[in-house]
Amino acid sequence: MIKKIALLSVLFMFSSSIFSQEQYHFTALELEMDRIAIRYGADRSEQLEQLKQLLVNNPQATAAEKALFSTFSCSLKANLAPTLAEESLAALKDLMYESLNDNSVKAAVALCEASLAQYVTSSDDYDVALYKAFLFSQLSDLATLRYWIGLNINDTFIQYNDLKSSELALLTALGVAIDNNDDYRVIVSSMSLIHTYRKQGKYDLAIEYANLAQESLNNLDDNWLQDQVYIGRAATLQSLNKYDDALFYYKKALVNAKEQAKYREVKFLQLDIAFVKLMLKKPGQANKGLEEVMNYSLEYDDQFLLHQAKLLQSHIYLFEGLGSKSTQLFNQVINYLQRENYPKELLNAWQQLIQVAKLSENQVLERKSLQRYNALLNERTVNERAVMQGIITKAHNGIRVYDVELAAHELKRQSVLQKELLSNRDQLLASTIFLAALLAIIGVRFGWRRVASYRRRKAEICRQRYYDPLTQCFNRRYLNEVIVSKLISSSKAGNSGVLVMIDIDHFKQFNDTYGHAAGDNVLKEVVKTLQADLRPNDNIVRLGGEEFLMVLPPSDNLNVEAVIERILQVINRNPVIIEDKPRRVTISIGYIPVEKVNSAVKVEELLILADKALYHAKECGRNRAVGISELQCSANAIDNIVTAKNNGLLKLSEIRIDARGC
Ligand code: GH3
Ligand code: MG
Ligand code: MG
Repeated sequence: MIKKIALLSVLFMFSSSIFSQEQYHFTALELEMDRIAIRYGADRSEQLEQLKQLLVNNPQATAAEKALFSTFSCSLKANLAPTLAEESLAALKDLMYESLNDNSVKAAVALCEASLAQYVTSSDDYDVALYKAFLFSQLSDLATLRYWIGLNINDTFIQYNDLKSSELALLTALGVAIDNNDDYRVIVSSMSLIHTYRKQGKYDLAIEYANLAQESLNNLDDNWLQDQVYIGRAATLQSLNKYDDALFYYKKALVNAKEQAKYREVKFLQLDIAFVKLMLKKPGQANKGLEEVMNYSLEYDDQFLLHQAKLLQSHIYLFEGLGSKSTQLFNQVINYLQRENYPKELLNAWQQLIQVAKLSENQVLERKSLQRYNALLNERTVNERAVMQGIITKAHNGIRVYDVELAAHELKRQSVLQKELLSNRDQLLASTIFLAALLAIIGVRFGWRRVASYRRRKAEICRQRYYDPLTQCFNRRYLNEVIVSKLISSSKAGNSGVLVMIDIDHFKQFNDTYGHAAGDNVLKEVVKTLQADLRPNDNIVRLGGEEFLMVLPPSDNLNVEAVIERILQVINRNPVIIEDKPRRVTISIGYIPVEKVNSAVKVEELLILADKALYHAKECGRNRAVGISELQCSANAIDNIVTAKNNGLLKLSEIRIDARGC
């Protein structure tokens, strides 16, 4: 009874919420679909039918909304009753014919085809159909579809190592989640982004998305997700050779996994930790963790885990100078991974060998394994690219088939109508006119929608691209892609701006004393304080870690000295509360006035000089500002400094620096 009432209230919320929306947002729709499906198990298709009835006969429901329902029920039925799913597909196609070029409906049709392929035909068809759905969803204003398809197609992109597309798909999903303040989905999309960026070698971004996920996790209590985020962050730190930090997060994940009694995950984490210990040259500790994993994998006959453990054992042997024992085990592992077809793990094994050979100062082995690794990687990349290209081509062909079906259907429908009214000769003329009009309508609608939704998507993606999720200020990409060109266009002779490079003093101590979360909070608070002091055209960029750049573009009445003094003071006077007590934060500043800049290279050079000044401020005792004197910043002088520096003629100490009190 309670279940029924709950369902009815959900249905009610549902129907009222979707019909009242002008714009398509990520409504409760998908969320509730999930919940209903989970909550009602086998009965769910029946409940969904009820839900569908609400829509089918409702004149207010749009084609896109109907399609959304049909595609969800299609995906549920595909598994249990493929024939029913095929009926949904047929109904969806009718909807597609009725609504001509509605991209949401087309995305829903393709998604339904993908569901059918998943259970009925082949995984190849699945990838193609999902890719079609992805293309349409990018043009659709139905946020639910963009999220759902973006997240699902990511698996395909990752499988075939198409990391650029993976990034686009995930940013699409993340954009929807953020717009809807949906913490759960923000975490899910960010988690995948961590992986994608790590694979791309963009570790800064991977860490940024780990921060974003962590922030959203603070609003949610989900141990499993928390584990994944810890692991993602740890793996990124490991790739950055920050083994101590990686260890810290692997251990947190381990504690979590143990609490949840996830025994197998615990074992994999123990292996990760043991590997990191080895990289920290602690083979004894690595060995200890390993024994436990070996015993477990033998007890449960877990061959995959056993071979991962053997791999680590072979690394430890290598480090301990037991070369032949190591090679023997390593070959066993490689044979297993090849035989059982684990291409990713195979690459990973070689990559680890390179690292351990380097650690053991075995240059010959390092070179040889690097060669092997590169050969394998090349071979795989070529294959993956070919498969992905095949999927894309087939998807585009599939899309043309829709258009042909659509036009044929429309012609047929029209000709039936026309026959009743017109003579043969008139009919020919009319259908020619009709065909031309139809093509024009399709073209105009398609073009307009495409531009409108492309603009929307672009704005969304830009926001993501340029924003530092932890501190809410801009990131380095924004500096390079936007600020620099603004600086160039706004700089006029006679006007002066300033680039202010800021580094928090002894920041590491906050992390070490109060924990990483407190460190994160210091970063956020410092940015807030700085932002409170900005003029509309000023920008703050997080350059990375605890380094920021303030860009104050040239304007007539900028008193550089006064501004710098104010920045120092405002930070000094605003302590950060940690563990209920105010703690003083200080910063060091290196600044350089900007007059005429005419190229990105020039800005880059100014930044190098500001960085030098910052270094000087640190040397002089921190909590102070050092500027390159205005005199030397006239265009010529900068050129001279940079040229002299590049030619090795000038040392930092020879640049005239206005270092107050130092
Ligand atoms: P100095 O006064 O010379 O600048 O000393 P410092 O301790 O501030 O500088 P150092 O470069 O030694 O340490 C910076 C630390 O910042 C190391 C790194 O672990 C930490 N860090 C980098 N990014 C983040 C982040 O996003 N959050 C937190 N909490 N710490 C970070
Ligand atoms: Mg610092
Ligand atoms: Mg620093």
